[in-house]
Amino acid sequence: MTTTQAGSRPARLLNIASWLVAIAFAVALSWLGELLIRDMAFLPHGGPPDAQQFVDHTAVDPLDAQLAALQKERDGVDDQRSAANKRLDRAQQAYADAKDAFERWVDTRNATGNSAQDAAVLQRTRTLDTQLADITRQQAAIHTLEDQRNAIDARMVPVAAKLNTESQAANDRFDAAARHYALVVFAWRLCLTLPPLLIAAWLVVRHRKSRYWPFVYGFALFALAGFFFELVPYLPSFGGYVRAVVAIALTVFAGVTMLRTFARYVERKRAELEQSQHERARHMSYDKAVTAYTKHLCPSCDKPWTPGDTPVSFCVHCGLQLFVPCGCGARNFAFFPFCSQCGTAVALQSPSSDT
Ligand SMILES: [Zn+2]
Ligand SMILES: [Zn+2]
Repeated sequence: MTTTQAGSRPARLLNIASWLVAIAFAVALSWLGELLIRDMAFLPHGGPPDAQQFVDHTAVDPLDAQLAALQKERDGVDDQRSAANKRLDRAQQAYADAKDAFERWVDTRNATGNSAQDAAVLQRTRTLDTQLADITRQQAAIHTLEDQRNAIDARMVPVAAKLNTESQAANDRFDAAARHYALVVFAWRLCLTLPPLLIAAWLVVRHRKSRYWPFVYGFALFALAGFFFELVPYLPSFGGYVRAVVAIALTVFAGVTMLRTFARYVERKRAELEQSQHERARHMSYDKAVTAYTKHLCPSCDKPWTPGDTPVSFCVHCGLQLFVPCGCGARNFAFFPFCSQCGTAVALQSPSSDT
């Protein structure tokens, strides 16, 4: 087994620094991607559709004018009616006052027995009659105005209904245009986010263990962030169906991938454990041995080697020899090349001692 830098302080620092590089790379790429997306969002025909441009002005404008004219007419009638109401109030007040004065005058006249004024009585009664007739005329005028107002209202109803139909149609046209625009934007975003995602998948599968892995992971982080932040929010919803279906598909994909990966791991371990322990020890990588040692795991079967505090020599799960005694009396982890006490090379048990 050859010694590597695994577990050394520089190697661990490099690991941390590499992750920082990966994240910084992802952030820088996302920045660039955002600039691209920003300049592209208004690409289809100069921006999102505006509701106003779908109004059919040749149909709506005459109707609007008609409605405005009717409204003006109605306002005029309303003004006339309120003036007529005031006149009626005044006439009613004047009549009431005149009637009171007449009654007092008649009472006085009866009390004094002065009956030589029949002409005056007639005169006063006539005045009161005139006032009453005036009130009736005012009331008739108000009724006429009310009838006019009702007629105008009745004429407004069909115009308002036509306008309503027109605005409904304009809304429908606008909705259709907005849906189309959303689809175009989504297609553009898909064209921009899907290729990086595919490249990232290929890079991770092929090159995740290369010397330049921080860039592979940085690119993958960027592609994932782009997919989830730049594409997913723009998924056309079609009443939520698309999002629900995508969520289900992603969950199933993630679950199946996870279960398959674990099944492959189990299969690999099973094949590995079928080998003789000499073979297994020989193929053990130094990096893996160091990691396993620091975590107190058997490097072959990945299970903890010490169920209690008792020092062990063999893995209780798979039988792999983990610790070997040295001539100097020390016990050494079997996958470290040198004795921790005397520095001589650690010798694994010979293949003949395999079980
Ligand atoms: Zn084991
Ligand atoms: Zn020794």
